[in-house]
Amino acid sequence: MEIDPEQSKTILRGRPFLGVQFVSCRTYGRLYLNREGTAYVGRCPRCGAPVRALVGEHGTSQRFFQATCP
Ligand SMILES: [Zn+2]
Repeated sequence: MEIDPEQSKTILRGRPFLGVQFVSCRTYGRLYLNREGTAYVGRCPRCGAPVRALVGEHGTSQRFFQATCP
């Protein structure tokens, strides 16, 4: 769920990402594909709430994603 330092390095090399709108905080951010390639994960830049969007069968194929912060 969290982006660890090693994954951040990978992000800098150019990971696939998904644009996300954090509806409750009225801001935008990006979710990056995790190491396993199973989900896009990230945090709300405003409140730090973790967000994930699953990839695949039951996941999203949207290129843009809406999230609400808890
Ligand atoms: Zn938020």
